[in-house]
Amino acid sequence: MSDKPPSPPLHPRTRAVHHGIRRSQYGEMSEALFMTQGFAYDSAEQAEARFISSGPDEFIYARYGNPTSRMFEDRIADLEGTEDAFATASGMAAVNGALMCFLKPGDHVVSSRALFGSCLYVLDLLARFGVEVSYVDGTEPDQWRDAIRPDTRAVFFESMSNPTLEIVDIESVAGLAHAVGATVVVDNVFTTPVYSRAVAQGADVVVYSATKHIDGSGRCLGGVICGTRDFVRGAAEPYLKHTGGAISPFNAWLMLNGLGTMDLRVRAQTENATRLATALAGDARLTRVIYPGLASHAQHDLAMRQMGGAGGTMIAVDMGSKQAAFAAMNRMRIFQISNNLGDAKSIVTHPATTTHQRLSEEARQGLGITPGLVRLSVGIEDADDLIADFRQAMA
Ligand SMILES: *Cc1c(COP(=O)(O)O)cnc(C)c1O
Repeated sequence: MSDKPPSPPLHPRTRAVHHGIRRSQYGEMSEALFMTQGFAYDSAEQAEARFISSGPDEFIYARYGNPTSRMFEDRIADLEGTEDAFATASGMAAVNGALMCFLKPGDHVVSSRALFGSCLYVLDLLARFGVEVSYVDGTEPDQWRDAIRPDTRAVFFESMSNPTLEIVDIESVAGLAHAVGATVVVDNVFTTPVYSRAVAQGADVVVYSATKHIDGSGRCLGGVICGTRDFVRGAAEPYLKHTGGAISPFNAWLMLNGLGTMDLRVRAQTENATRLATALAGDARLTRVIYPGLASHAQHDLAMRQMGGAGGTMIAVDMGSKQAAFAAMNRMRIFQISNNLGDAKSIVTHPATTTHQRLSEEARQGLGITPGLVRLSVGIEDADDLIADFRQAMA
């Protein structure tokens, strides 16, 4: 290492490109892909020693850790502002791991009701193993206050809900949870790491589906659990390494590269989403235009405060009926009909018949998932093209 002068604190966009690199003896510029399941030891004694305790550059087995996965973990932990992170095979492995790793029968959990379907499945699973789960309307501080009890062990919520883009006030819920010593676990996918200040706002554990904005090109699955070193290495890692939820080194390598361009993509997507939502806001054929960046959003002020003045990359619009929604979707040329989000390509989804099909009609109604509701994940294309595509589809 050369003697370079100390540097001032770096901005996230700089750290997202440089932080966490572990160069091999070749000094490669690009982050190396260590496509290996295991590691050869110099001696039997070295193997023995490593199983007792391994240093930062010592690995045992890719289910436990891998140099490429560790680069991704170090970089995302740095961006999120947590001590450490553990990378997982998918976003759901992260949600499942973050909760299962420390909850036990008899524990009490409070969760918001507006969740991704698989997150609801994980909470049902916890209930099956004797964890008591109470559900609240995440946008109602009074419901959180009533549901959180002295024996509550954890609270869980999506900071921006799928697909109706409701915002949960992280600071206020964390205040209530911490008063009883409960751990605050936030699924922050829709907020994205770019606009996340979840840790400063009181989250103890932040989980991401890296499949979404972190990869940003819809290439592979991945997830990550960010938290204190105690939580990540003391609770999450043992659970995940023994139950097999680790990320593939190849996928970690894609995610690591994804982080480098994430800030550029997400800000461009947000700018496009703002332009599109603004263009659609006055259209009488749409019964609702939901975008946290619009002043018409019921929680606009909270969204702006919580996400540093940005509305994010997602929009939901109500076209009045399933028939109108399908007709418009089928005419779209740039927006692809799919169910991923955070992709560089714009995506249109009909939640009632796809992502939320499993729910009962009443449950869908309760969550505001009407037959005409369409979810838009806005990509990095030219905003004018996206607006024109949407307009011609509705014509
Ligand atoms: C997609 C998603 C997940 C699950 O992530 P996968 O990578 O698909 O397993 C969890 N939570 C939210 C909010 C999501 O959007």
